[in-house]
Amino acid sequence: MKTRWILFPAGLALLFSGCATMDAVTGQKTQNFYSLRQDVEIGSQVYGQTVAEMRKQGIPVNTDRRRLAQLQEMVRRIGAVSNLPDLPYEVALIQTNVVNAMAAPGGKIMVYEGLWDPKEGLVRDEDEIAAVLAHEIAHVNARHSTEAMTRQMLPNLLFLGGSIIAQANDRDDIAAALGGVFVLYNGIWVTRYSRTDEFEADRIGMMYMARAGYDPRAAVRIWERAEQRRTGNDPASSIFSTHPPGMQRVQNLRAHLPSALAAYETSAYRRTQ
Ligand SMILES: [Zn+2]
Repeated sequence: MKTRWILFPAGLALLFSGCATMDAVTGQKTQNFYSLRQDVEIGSQVYGQTVAEMRKQGIPVNTDRRRLAQLQEMVRRIGAVSNLPDLPYEVALIQTNVVNAMAAPGGKIMVYEGLWDPKEGLVRDEDEIAAVLAHEIAHVNARHSTEAMTRQMLPNLLFLGGSIIAQANDRDDIAAALGGVFVLYNGIWVTRYSRTDEFEADRIGMMYMARAGYDPRAAVRIWERAEQRRTGNDPASSIFSTHPPGMQRVQNLRAHLPSALAAYETSAYRRTQ
């Protein structure tokens, strides 16, 4: 199995404590066993295999060309104003009613169709989807996945394996297939980011979306809505399992809103719209 080699560096990470690299976003020293090139290699490999496996299992991927083109353009715009604009950013649209989005290291992003609904969705308009994409791109730039893999053994990251199925309840065959795919790759896609990483991705993501000409107030709106909706029994597949809502999160976003709004006001993208 091709992904096995990933396990070895993760294990070896425990033996190496001096793997300091510089964070492209903060300029601070961080511990990461992997190089940026390895982020791209791991992410590309897992992304390609996940999409291929989903298609093999009959899960529709990228069949809505219009929406895919829209997402691609948004990811291109946000990636271009990020700290690592040269990464091979790519987005896949997984067409099930799961409410989630996720990123693999190196710039590969998956968005589930269920995330976005103009009336009832957690995400309702283009600024709001930009907030989600920018948050994922922020995780990629800050290299949170491979940092987490460095900190922990990969088996810990497999915690959610197989549980990403509960929400795809309109088609049982798709739900089962999704579960199968994520037993294989969940460790890469669904990193349980630390609270610190989440707050950092919120802060950085809000700045990225603003620079790309999307209204950063949308980020606050999503998490206020999420906080109102919180029921305590969300399925493990939902965005709430990987991105817990909370008033602290909303407050953190509000605290950074003035600087993001300033970036939004002067965004070159916004002026040309
Ligand atoms: Zn996150």
